[in-house]
Amino acid sequence: MATGKINVSVENIFPLIKKFLYSDHEIFLRELISNATDATLKLKHLSSLGEAKVSYGNPLIEVKVDKKGKKLHIIDQGIGMTQEEVKKYINEVAFSGAEEFLDKYKDAGKDAGIIGHFGLGFYSSFMVAKKVEILTKSYKDEPAAHWSCDGSPEFSLKKGKKETRGTEIILHIADDSTEFLEDQRIRELLTKYNKFMPIPIKFGMRTETLPKPEGAKEEDPAPTKEVDDIINNPTPAWTKKPTELKEEDYKSFYRELYPMQFDEPLFNIHLNVDYPFNLTGILYFPKLTNDLNIQKDRIQLYQNQVFVTDNVEGIVPEFLTMLRGVIDSPDIPLNVSRSYLQADGAVKKISSYISRKVADKLTSLFKENREDFEAKWNDIKIVIEYGMLSDDKFFEKAETFALYPTVDGKYFTFEELKEKTTALQTDKDDKLVVLYASDKEAQHSYIEAAKAKGFEVLLMDSPIVGHLLQKLETSKEKVSFARVDADHLDNLIKKEETQISKLSDEEKEQLKAQIEEAVGEKGYTVQLEPMDSQAAPFIITEPEFMRRMKEMQQTGGGMFGMGNMPDMFNLVVNTNHELVSEILHTKTAKKRGRLINQSLDLARLSKGLLKGEALTNFIKRSYEMVK
Ligand code: ADP
Repeated sequence: MATGKINVSVENIFPLIKKFLYSDHEIFLRELISNATDATLKLKHLSSLGEAKVSYGNPLIEVKVDKKGKKLHIIDQGIGMTQEEVKKYINEVAFSGAEEFLDKYKDAGKDAGIIGHFGLGFYSSFMVAKKVEILTKSYKDEPAAHWSCDGSPEFSLKKGKKETRGTEIILHIADDSTEFLEDQRIRELLTKYNKFMPIPIKFGMRTETLPKPEGAKEEDPAPTKEVDDIINNPTPAWTKKPTELKEEDYKSFYRELYPMQFDEPLFNIHLNVDYPFNLTGILYFPKLTNDLNIQKDRIQLYQNQVFVTDNVEGIVPEFLTMLRGVIDSPDIPLNVSRSYLQADGAVKKISSYISRKVADKLTSLFKENREDFEAKWNDIKIVIEYGMLSDDKFFEKAETFALYPTVDGKYFTFEELKEKTTALQTDKDDKLVVLYASDKEAQHSYIEAAKAKGFEVLLMDSPIVGHLLQKLETSKEKVSFARVDADHLDNLIKKEETQISKLSDEEKEQLKAQIEEAVGEKGYTVQLEPMDSQAAPFIITEPEFMRRMKEMQQTGGGMFGMGNMPDMFNLVVNTNHELVSEILHTKTAKKRGRLINQSLDLARLSKGLLKGEALTNFIKRSYEMVK
């Protein structure tokens, strides 16, 4: 029997490991199963090389809880180790990994990110065990080895009794870690980290119901059989070629990934690249609502089928973190901090590759079946619009598939929109003015007024629309957007119709003074416009620019440093309306004041501005009038 001291520069490394990895103790199991998987895959490789003594068979990895003995066993049928190899790999190599961790930890200071993603390997078992044993027998014709260490730097290594090939790791679970003796907890961890690992993992037995034998009676119970309970799917969809998979396979993999999610994905994107980096994966577009925040962190990151994290920030472009699915890459450096990750060249390439693939997929979906694409638009637009805003390359590509729906359910591309609207909707500077509504109900009367003039009105209702329009205005030539209730509308209407005012200049001055006197204190800018006599007499509009700035501030675009911007409203008075000439010719100031204020309240009502006490008073007054 050999005893020795592990070559440590820090006197006692184990308490340190335990302390530093406090938040993430559970990863020990992932690390041990990764080792068991590697050892099994190495065996597979040797047997494929025709190594005589090796027969591969159908190896399993088994996890066993011995609650009474306070032990956890991880047993593989891989290549195993000789005594010499245990000395080399466990005492020296594995240890150097632990030491490297401590080195890096010093540098990284208090960056919590580093801890969870550091592959500490075998020694992470000391986070939960007071003593660890390795029973191992190499595939080579050599005696088995038995290593044991109680957490101090001293270990013992002797000849072992193990007769079958492979390695058994026995963890004597520490008193403060007994949660890892609970079946439920172990099953949870295996499902979280090892659900798609390439070697079957057995955890206990389960009862399988068999078909009833021929001629069995109705009341006879179906026969059952005890079978190994295999936790994982060793060949998940993303490891297969796209040509091997049907639509249904993608859907069932989605259900496997998100068993608690009951929606169907809209479509998927199969990622597969081996140069200049390795990456496979499947991304799904789920149905998305307008709430940007609750939907993140659904993409899972794997490294060679081992679950690493579901926080893919920095690896996937931010706008795509709303998608779901899996990314697997051996090339993503996981044992570093997030800030390092974001600066990493390979990671940046991965991010732009993913963005490009998504744009390509959207282009082909649009071209293959536009009708279907239109039907899905409402559920996917938030990702696309967000992407157009945050990623210039994506913005360019989106030219082909980004859609601009109208309030009547038509869908235009930007080019189509331009064609449709050029004829009428240009302003004084010959700029194309695209009208849009953000709320079909609230802006109903304005939408109707615009439609009556023959204008197309878009329905742009996502929360980031202000930012998007700003971007479109600055990058596309000669186009501006105006909400239907913005002051632009008057320009457009005037230009189209060139209405002649029925009022003389004198009358106009008088009218303006009357109205200003009645409503002046309420902060409206009074504007007289000769419009169609059928148009409303009073219309409240709001400068597009001011309103949009305010909205953008609310959705996180407060870079302009505008604190509380005041509300600014115009009161547009249609001088060709009958009611307006009645106001002008009313004899008593009292009656005129009533007419003006009632009309103003109606205009406010139509813009959704009439609330609280003002609304109560308005209703009271109206009842008085109809009485
Ligand atoms: P890493 O897996 O990153 O190399 P570890 O500390 O986890 O680091 O393991 C060190 C070495 O010990 C492995 O590289 C491997 O050679 C050996 N080893 C660990 N676990 C096993 C096992 N279950 N079967 C065979 N060899 C193992």
